[in-house]
Amino acid sequence: MHKVIIIGSGCAGLTAAIYAARANLKPVVIDGHEPGGQLTLTTMVENFPGFPDGVLGPELIEFMRKQAQRFGAEFRSGAVSSVALKHRPFKIEAGKEAFEAETLIVAAGASARLLGLDSEKKLIGHGVSTCATCDGYFFRDKEIAVVGGGDTAMEEATHLTRFAKRVTILNRRNQFRASKIMLDRAKANDKIKFLTPVVVEEVLDPAKHDVEAVKLRNVENNKTSILPISGLFIGIGHEPNTKIFRGQLDMDEAGYLKTNKGSRTNVDGVFAAGDVQDKTYRQAVTAAGSGCMAAMDAERFLEAYSH
Ligand code: NDP
Repeated sequence: MHKVIIIGSGCAGLTAAIYAARANLKPVVIDGHEPGGQLTLTTMVENFPGFPDGVLGPELIEFMRKQAQRFGAEFRSGAVSSVALKHRPFKIEAGKEAFEAETLIVAAGASARLLGLDSEKKLIGHGVSTCATCDGYFFRDKEIAVVGGGDTAMEEATHLTRFAKRVTILNRRNQFRASKIMLDRAKANDKIKFLTPVVVEEVLDPAKHDVEAVKLRNVENNKTSILPISGLFIGIGHEPNTKIFRGQLDMDEAGYLKTNKGSRTNVDGVFAAGDVQDKTYRQAVTAAGSGCMAAMDAERFLEAYSH
C-alpha cells in the first residue's frame, strides 16, 4: 500500500514527486508511455524561471528526476493500463504490476494529435513525425512540410530550418492560431514557405514505405495538388491522456480532467496536475506549479484522513 502514486513523469509529475517525497510520503512515480513528458521532445527552454541562458528540455527533466530521487521518490517504468477509483485504496495496474494507493496524482500529460489518415498512420516513423526535435536531423537538405497553424507548427518549422532545404507550413485556414511573435519569427525565416488554406488528403506513398509527397486540397476552390517532400511533421496540437479515466473522473468535452479547489478531481483522494487538466496555459512552469499543488493537496488529504 502506497501513500501516493503519481501517474506520469513530466514536469507536473516530477514536481509532485519532489514535494511528496520531501513530505516523507515516499511517492511512487509510474513513468507512462512517454517518460519525461513533452519537455524531453524539446530543445532549448528559455522561459523556465531560474535559467537566464535557457536549459535543454531533457536536461531540465533529468534535474527534476534526480531531485525527486534524492528525497526518496521511486520510479517504475511502464504505462498504466487500468485504474479502479470507486473505493480507497485505489487500484492501479501498469503492465504486470499492480499497485494500491491511498491517494493518486494524475499527471499523465497530453500527446500529439494526428490527422487521422490511413497513409499517415502507415508512414509514421517512415517520414511522418510528430516531433521535429527528435527527427529533424534525418531531413538534412531535404524538402519537408509541417501541418498546422499554431505555436507548435511555427516552433517545429523554425527548428526544422536548421536541417531542411525548405519547410512548407500547411495550414487549413488563411489565419493562424499562432502567437504573433512565433508567427513573425517563422515569416522572417526565408527557408519557410506558407501554403494556405490547404488540407492534407493523403501522404504518398505507403506502398514504398517512405514519404515522397503529399496530396493537398485547397479548401476554397477544392483544387488538389501534389507537393513533393521527404518528410511530413504533424504539429496540430495535443490530446490529453485520459482514456483510462473515462467514466471515473469528470472531464470536459475535449477529455481534459476537471479540477476544482486546487487540484481536486471529483473523486476524493485523486488529484490532477499538468497538461492532463490544463488546455489553457500548458507551460512547463504552470505544469510544475500544479504538480506542487497536487502534492500539497494529497498531503493535506492524508493528514485529514488519518485523524
Ligand atoms: P493549437 O491548438 O494552438 O493549434 C493547433 C493548430 O493545428 C491550429 O492551427 C489548428 O487549425 C490546426 N489543426 C488542428 N487540427 C487539425 C487537423 N485535423 N487538420 C489540420 N489542422 C489542424 O495547438 P498548439 O500545439 O500549436 O499550441 C497549444 C498551446 O501550446 C498554445 O497555447 C501555444 O501557445 C502553446 N505553445 C507554446 C509554445 C512556445 O511558447 N514555445 C510552443 C508550442 C505550443 P485551426 O486554427 O483551424 O483550428
